[in-house]
Amino acid sequence: MDFMATPTQDLFCRNVFHKTIMKERLPKSVFKSLIKTIEEGTKLEPETADAVATAMKDWAMEKGATHYAHVFYPLTGSTAEKHDSFLIPTGDGTAMAEFSGSQLIQGEPDGSSFPTGGIRQTFEARGYTIWDVTSPAYILENTNGTTLCIPTAFVSWTGEALDKKTPVLRSMQALNVQAQRILKLFGHEDAALVSSTAGPEQEYFLIDRNFFFSRPDLINAGRTLFGAKPPKGQEFDDHYFGAIPERVLSYMFDVERELFKLGIPVKTRHNEVAPGQYEIAPIFESANIATDHQQLVMLTLRKVAEKYGMACLTHEKPFAGVNGSGKHVNWSLGSKSQGNMLDPGDTPHENAQFLLVCAAVIRAVHKHQGLLRSVVASASNDHRLGANEAPPAIMSIFLGDQLTDVFEQIKTGGANSSLPRGTLTVGVDVLPPLPKDAGDRNRTSPFAFTGNRFEFRAVGSNQSIAGPLVAMNTIVAESLDYCATQLEQATGGDPAKLNEALQKLLTQIMTDHGTIVFNGDGYSDAWHKEAAERGLLNLKTTADALPALKDKSVKDLFTKYNVLSERELDSRLDIYLEQYCMTVQVEANLTLEIARTLIFPAVVRYQNELASTCANLKFLGYDFDMKTLDKITTLVKGLQDSTSKLEEILSKEHESDLEVQAEIIRDTFLPAMMDVRGYADELEGIVADDLWPLPTYQEMLFIR
Ligand code: ADP
Ligand code: MG
Repeated sequence: MDFMATPTQDLFCRNVFHKTIMKERLPKSVFKSLIKTIEEGTKLEPETADAVATAMKDWAMEKGATHYAHVFYPLTGSTAEKHDSFLIPTGDGTAMAEFSGSQLIQGEPDGSSFPTGGIRQTFEARGYTIWDVTSPAYILENTNGTTLCIPTAFVSWTGEALDKKTPVLRSMQALNVQAQRILKLFGHEDAALVSSTAGPEQEYFLIDRNFFFSRPDLINAGRTLFGAKPPKGQEFDDHYFGAIPERVLSYMFDVERELFKLGIPVKTRHNEVAPGQYEIAPIFESANIATDHQQLVMLTLRKVAEKYGMACLTHEKPFAGVNGSGKHVNWSLGSKSQGNMLDPGDTPHENAQFLLVCAAVIRAVHKHQGLLRSVVASASNDHRLGANEAPPAIMSIFLGDQLTDVFEQIKTGGANSSLPRGTLTVGVDVLPPLPKDAGDRNRTSPFAFTGNRFEFRAVGSNQSIAGPLVAMNTIVAESLDYCATQLEQATGGDPAKLNEALQKLLTQIMTDHGTIVFNGDGYSDAWHKEAAERGLLNLKTTADALPALKDKSVKDLFTKYNVLSERELDSRLDIYLEQYCMTVQVEANLTLEIARTLIFPAVVRYQNELASTCANLKFLGYDFDMKTLDKITTLVKGLQDSTSKLEEILSKEHESDLEVQAEIIRDTFLPAMMDVRGYADELEGIVADDLWPLPTYQEMLFIR
């Protein structure tokens, strides 16, 4: 397609079965009932499904679709889909297209190979996909055809969640119920559906595809298991927000156009800190839709990269010693009638409803630090969290000067003023004065208030945002529940008593939970010490963090609000522990294989070259400096010994208790892999470049 010929705004939602199309194509009553379900969360009327299915099929076929797919989100964090053709044979040598309401509503993929954490045995492997009406259907294009995609929830035949979407929907429902109680206290009866909103910023690396294919570690583990630091790293900061390289910019345009067609409102693009690292961010949407869209963003980033001879790496730490990639999840809650409920306005101290919601978040994060840490735990994110570029593993909240001041006043009895925002004057007459933000930014905080939302920065770039959103929605629902109950009791339904009750409640929350607020440098050692003194958790690795899912407080939380049953939660813990173990296991095997079959042979070839040069020169009566040969020989010995040690560790029988096995892996596998890497990386700096079997960091990061 000539891309200049189609203005971008005409592309938006081109491949989405959106509201306007529904209105055009559905009988009025069906349309009304469907929109009621989507916008107000009412029950879906089964009769509407047939009409919707027919309209959807006709629309999709007009756009060339031959198949439909139920798209679902298994606990691996990836996106899964099962495709079926619209065509069915009529028996007289012809075929006709059919798509019924029941095919739209329910599918039964043979998903028995997805992890279920014991919820399904293979003999009872039925799993169902169920149409999620609230997330719009869309069309995915391929050069050889197009497919109608229907976002679905994936559950077992007992109705238990096997996926990431189901708990997102349940947690949004819980949040709405509790938020309504708060709104009622403030006199907003019968308010519109309160929904959590999410805007995820995605960081990623791009490298040339030729390099990617020459690195078995990147292909199989998504990260480099070997590689010496390049002579020039990111210390010049010349890449950050620099001009975007030409090939990358073409790629970005293409990605954005594809995403636009899918109705994904991508907005921001720029270079990130590390060489070869970039970011893309959409405008926020309702949490459920944002989650589905985020999965599509990752898929599209990877798919389009192929077209430009590049590979897109979404791993949290593809390159050691270089900044890793995160996914900042911006989160808030709001409704059509209320707008954003975390918007403080100019004078937050007078905005009682805002203060209450904000305090509820503070309480929630303090109370459930362990849970928040565990939902961002993964083998790959372990390399990033706590490194000197990403938030530490300690959860804390950054509030900024203005809000911190207001909440400090609250702690000591009540807030009477807000620090003025002031204006920013630059000292150059031609530049206009700007209204100043109420607080500076703090990039080191895992959970920061950024003006009218919270930004959860500890989320990994490769993760589904579902888990973090489920956690945030549910902990805040619980906190709002607590606040509503306290206020309802204290006022006994008398609005005149609200103000006083609120003052008391806010003061109490800040006294009990204010220790989670920290505005300083989260990277510093001093903070680690201080956090320990404050009694905040510091769950450094996945093996430390995941067991938090077993805490009584977490079980009570999820069961009380019907977000996850005890069995569903247990199964998740099992699956995530298993994923951690398998991931590191694969990496360890790869380390062994690459060290033995790629690096060692290259090194001994060079060693041999040096040795024969030396022997020949000596024979001819020349001197030869043996330093390099000595060094290589020592390192080769180290490489051999460390690979043998890794092999021995790998051959040990696994513990059947996954928690124990995860600790063993953390304490023995990872250090042994680092040892092997240490020798190999040092050798990389000595061995002849033409013999080195792997593309170097220099090549991968700087050739664009
Ligand atoms: P920065 O990199 O400065 O943090 P970006 O513009 O890259 O900011 O991303 C900010 C994200 O926060 C965007 O996705 C934006 O839509 C989102 N956001 C803004 N308001 C809200 C809100 N009320 N709820 C959720 N996300 C929001
Ligand atoms: Mg941000």
